[in-house]
Amino acid sequence: MNDMSLMNLQAEKTWVGAAAIEALAAGLRGRVLEASDSSYDEARAIWNAMIDRRPALIVQCAGAADVVNAVRFASDNKLLVSVRGGGHNIAGNAVCDGGMMIDLSPMKSVRVDVAAKRAWVEPGATLADVDKETQAFSLVVPTGINSTTGIAGLTLGGGFGWITRKYGLTIDNLVSVDVVTANGELVRASAKENSDLFWALRGGGGNFGIVTAFEFRLHELRPQVLSGLVVHPFADAQAVLQQYRQALETAPDELTCWVVMRQAPLLPFLPQEWHGKEILILVICWCGDIAEGEKATQRLRSIGNPIADVVAPHPFAGWQQAFDPLLTPGARNYWKSHDFISLSDPTIGILIDAISKLPGPECEIFIAHLGGAVGRVAAGATAFPQRSSHFVMNVHARWREPAMDTACIGWARQLFDAAAPHSAGTVYINFMPEDEVDRVEAAYGGNYKRLEEIKRQYDPQNLFRMNQNVRPAGERRAM
Ligand SMILES: Cc1cc2nc3c(=O)[nH]c(=O)nc-3n(C[C@H](O)[C@H](O)[C@H](O)COP(=O)(O)OP(=O)(O)OC[C@H]3O[C@@H](n4cnc5c(N)ncnc54)[C@H](O)[C@@H]3O)c2cc1C
Repeated sequence: MNDMSLMNLQAEKTWVGAAAIEALAAGLRGRVLEASDSSYDEARAIWNAMIDRRPALIVQCAGAADVVNAVRFASDNKLLVSVRGGGHNIAGNAVCDGGMMIDLSPMKSVRVDVAAKRAWVEPGATLADVDKETQAFSLVVPTGINSTTGIAGLTLGGGFGWITRKYGLTIDNLVSVDVVTANGELVRASAKENSDLFWALRGGGGNFGIVTAFEFRLHELRPQVLSGLVVHPFADAQAVLQQYRQALETAPDELTCWVVMRQAPLLPFLPQEWHGKEILILVICWCGDIAEGEKATQRLRSIGNPIADVVAPHPFAGWQQAFDPLLTPGARNYWKSHDFISLSDPTIGILIDAISKLPGPECEIFIAHLGGAVGRVAAGATAFPQRSSHFVMNVHARWREPAMDTACIGWARQLFDAAAPHSAGTVYINFMPEDEVDRVEAAYGGNYKRLEEIKRQYDPQNLFRMNQNVRPAGERRAM
């Protein structure tokens, strides 16, 4: 190994001696990778192929002790640091250029205590890892809808999916965390210990330290949920969306219904003539008694004249993977997102107009359905601020060829701008692209000031800045 030039916190190059890097590597159970290593490119690749960054060093951690060593090394040398969990974040903050990437993906253990209904999860686990271990015992923690997403980033931003209305956000089920703070100390945070830090970590993203273990409260969930798609011709979108909005006004917590609007992919149950045509999909999940669900989903399923209705009982862990084939890694992606208290008629009109201008066959609009248990937690109880939005719009621009960048990004931005006056003004930090650095304060609304104070306490030099960055109070120009 040679002396290396690395990016520091002032965005300048700094030399680190070979002996120091060798000592770091010797102290790890995991390993240190540099550009010449054969697994370097695989380690730096993330879900969004728009992100192509080259860290000078990648520290692949095998446990909390490795994370402590890596953080102390980075802090002592004032290095630019990025932290990788599942590598799914759209902004690509898991990977930095020229600095040190702390890669947690080898840390995948999930331990379930069935009697106590608790799970201890390491930060490299995916949602599929968590579902597999918990569902084996008919237990569950509410997470997101794509099983290859990392539990770490999803949890730290908030976390929502098919059973959130019943059981709350992922953070609402977090009991404690082990976290390595910027000074390289391993501490526990919970309602009783370091409670400020625990407050900030529930929604505050990667700003406050590196979580090495999450302790979740688990719920009982029958092995099957009533779930599936009801597909409508897009020509009926206005009436379908208006009736959808009405049907959800009285929906019980067990019922969740997201909307997906796009060109029809090759789905085996869709007649051939619909492939490639614009469609609107009501994606339904009922997590209670199946017979009750047949009744409770009737109103949504009897809207309009669907092309297909494939709602049926499915194993929950399998349903969690239903969207995986549409959301595979390796494509170019750009997202724009708004929270909505409700879906107004003008908003529906804007969505319909955007679908008439789709720039490519993989571009789509997702409307997530929240409310229920999410809204019964006070906005200031955790760092996650927006508890009263019933809908989250996520515009997924997705394509393959760099030549399509301008058209696809432009489409997403245009829709975002048009919908802005009708939105709540906040945004889910986990859906923010890399160019939204100035939107973080608005994203956190009334919780931002407290986050700044806690950031100053736990990370005054802003070591953890490759994220939706909260700057330490009094240091607003730290980047
Ligand atoms: C296809 C797809 C579907 C999605 N669906 C949903 C959904 O249904 N619901 C939902 O809520 N979200 C969803 N998301 C968003 C998802 O929650 C975020 O992308 C999240 O950041 C992914 O976490 P990760 O660990 O995979 O990402 P990474 O890119 O590895 O991490 C994201 C950031 O989190 C921080 N971080 C990661 N691990 C740690 C750690 N252990 N300690 C401290 N900081 C850490 C770092 O700042 C890092 O930059 C989806 C994303 C994708 C790409």
